[in-house]
Amino acid sequence: MRVDLHQNLIASDAAVEAATLVESCVHCGLCSSVCPTYEVLENELDSPRGRIYLIREALQGGEVTAKTRAHLDNCLNCKACETACPSGVQYGHLIDLGQQVINEQQVRPFWPRMSRVAIRTLLSSRPVLKTVALVGWALKPYLPTNLRSKVPVRPSPATWVTPRHARKVLSLSGCVQPVFTPGHDAALSLLLDRFGVSLIKASDGGCCGALSQHLDAPEAARAAMRRNIDAWWPHIERGVEAILSSSTGCGAQLMDYGHLLRDDKDYALKAARVSALVRDPGEFINAMWDKNPLVLSPLAEGEERLAFHVPCSLRNSLRAKAQVEKVLRRAGYKLTPVKEEHMCCGSAGAYSLLQPDRSEELLSRKLKHLVQGNPTQVVSANVGCIMHLQKSSPLDVGHWLELIARRLPSQETSHA
Ligand code: SF4
Ligand code: SF4
Repeated sequence: MRVDLHQNLIASDAAVEAATLVESCVHCGLCSSVCPTYEVLENELDSPRGRIYLIREALQGGEVTAKTRAHLDNCLNCKACETACPSGVQYGHLIDLGQQVINEQQVRPFWPRMSRVAIRTLLSSRPVLKTVALVGWALKPYLPTNLRSKVPVRPSPATWVTPRHARKVLSLSGCVQPVFTPGHDAALSLLLDRFGVSLIKASDGGCCGALSQHLDAPEAARAAMRRNIDAWWPHIERGVEAILSSSTGCGAQLMDYGHLLRDDKDYALKAARVSALVRDPGEFINAMWDKNPLVLSPLAEGEERLAFHVPCSLRNSLRAKAQVEKVLRRAGYKLTPVKEEHMCCGSAGAYSLLQPDRSEELLSRKLKHLVQGNPTQVVSANVGCIMHLQKSSPLDVGHWLELIARRLPSQETSHA
């Protein structure tokens, strides 16, 4: 699809890159069949192809209206469209760039802009989020019922296994996960320990940058990426085998560091090295299980029936859905069928906060399909999906890592 870039945009790096990506689209429409927003809204302009048209219009100097912005904002950035595209259109990068170009042309209205700043500030800073969470947990018993249900459950403290092996992998420190679900990383550290690998955390690391990346703040995202690289680099130089995140949304962002910092002369090579080291925990654990199968406690009657909610980031970005399913089957679980597996659950980073009605619609649809196969519990692999599903699920929802780690026989040496 040819793009005649408007002369006012020739100096914009984002516009030039977006034009190149738009030009790789052949306008076939195959992506629409897997797009959740097209499925729900039934409007061509809420399909990937429709949004690519809108971005092309903006790049050619067409008027950017509130509707243009709304159709782009409706996108979940789930990247399901990338998996269906025969031309390899990098839609995930394109939607971020398209929004950036539109923001450069016409600043986002005040309140929507402020809500994005507030969400970014709150969620991507662990100390700020921790403080707000502590206040929320303290006030929770006194809140009206409708507000009480919005305060996430206070997690039990979780302990990492003390590093004791020569083989080491790095973990992302993260932002939301250590506050609300610290057990996910603790479970990963326990599982890896049993395979003879230690999970280590760099003390200065933090948010992966994904929230800022998708909320109009690409420079803040790059700052977060550089900070993580600085924190990890001494460990990388000492020879860690991989970088793992127990949250697939963050893992997907880490995999993109090389691309997102490719023009940064100080960080491009380091960022490419980081991306090359990123593995999904499912892939890493399977490779070790091949040589050294885990011994787990037996499952109780019915406990083996599991519904696996596959996060979009696991399926469409990390492309490791099959790896996690393989670990679950190896651990004795039977995965119940889930219809419309490709549909996003509506969590999608900050989408559930910015577009609550559509997010709830996708959530109800997802939960209906998850319980249809009569599982005894639901597991997933991304903190956002898990917390989102937990809000309304009739079944327990947890992380697959915790589920398996709970079945490891105890060993006195294993906990800090
Ligand atoms: S990223 Fe997801 S919601 Fe957005 S256009 Fe692609 S398939 Fe549709
Ligand atoms: S499938 Fe790919 S090439 Fe076809 S319309 Fe969608 S983005 Fe364009």
